[in-house]
Amino acid sequence: MTCPFAKTERSTPNRAPKRVTFERQPVYAVIDAAPICHVGFSLPNGQPFVIPTIHARSGDTLYFHGSTQSRLLQAIASGNPICCTFTFLDGIVAARSAMHHSMNYRSVVAFGSGHLLSDEAERWEAFRLTVEKLIPGRWENCRQPNEAESKATAIAALRIEEATLKVRSGPPNDVASDLNGPYWAGVVPTQSGYSAPIPDGQMPPDTSTPPHIEQLLKNAAT
Ligand SMILES: Cc1cc2nc3c(=O)[nH]c(=O)nc-3n(C[C@H](O)[C@H](O)[C@H](O)COP(=O)(O)OP(=O)(O)OC[C@H]3O[C@@H](n4cnc5c(N)ncnc54)[C@H](O)[C@@H]3O)c2cc1C
Repeated sequence: MTCPFAKTERSTPNRAPKRVTFERQPVYAVIDAAPICHVGFSLPNGQPFVIPTIHARSGDTLYFHGSTQSRLLQAIASGNPICCTFTFLDGIVAARSAMHHSMNYRSVVAFGSGHLLSDEAERWEAFRLTVEKLIPGRWENCRQPNEAESKATAIAALRIEEATLKVRSGPPNDVASDLNGPYWAGVVPTQSGYSAPIPDGQMPPDTSTPPHIEQLLKNAAT
């Protein structure tokens, strides 16, 4: 069994601590399922940025790729502190009182610092993980990066130092005096998934959809 992430000053919840876990497996599950990562960093002049991007994970390492000119990649590579978030909206919570409206969600906040990858084998594995994160089974079903593409691409690895998962679920938390009021209350769950693939018009018209794309649709439906 893996040990939980460390509880430190920056990762200790001040509000609603019962909703927060430091356990690695549930944190990993949200990171791996999340299609997007928001990466937060500050420039030396204090200006903060939060930039959405694609991510992949192996153990406690997150991988990010982009242009060698990307400010985001340079910020991760600088080794300065980074904060990443991963968020799922699971439902809108309609309460009887205006102030108790809320959202059901799963969200991870991860802290760490990064560096640029220079080792070719590590870079190749990060490319592979990134493509496989988007569509499992895709790496073997596409042309792999050539030298020019690889040279133009920066890959940064960020080691997760602390991470927390916060979850809100269930009905609204109305106060007792509102429970007999006339207003509808409950949860409107969200739905997420993929629709029928749209083939690129430049493929021969009789090209069938490959199994790994069909599988992506099936996985999203379950
Ligand atoms: C979709 C969504 C909607 C939300 N809407 C609201 C809202 O309208 N108002 C509101 O006050 N809060 C909202 N929250 C909760 C919000 O994210 C914070 O948890 C909360 O505001 C407490 O913030 P804080 O800065 O006091 O955090 P603190 O409790 O001081 O945070 C300390 C540490 O706890 C952990 N932590 C805190 N929040 C999260 C989180 N969400 N996910 C994972 N780890 C966390 C982090 O490690 C963080 O550094 C929402 C969350 C989500 C995901």
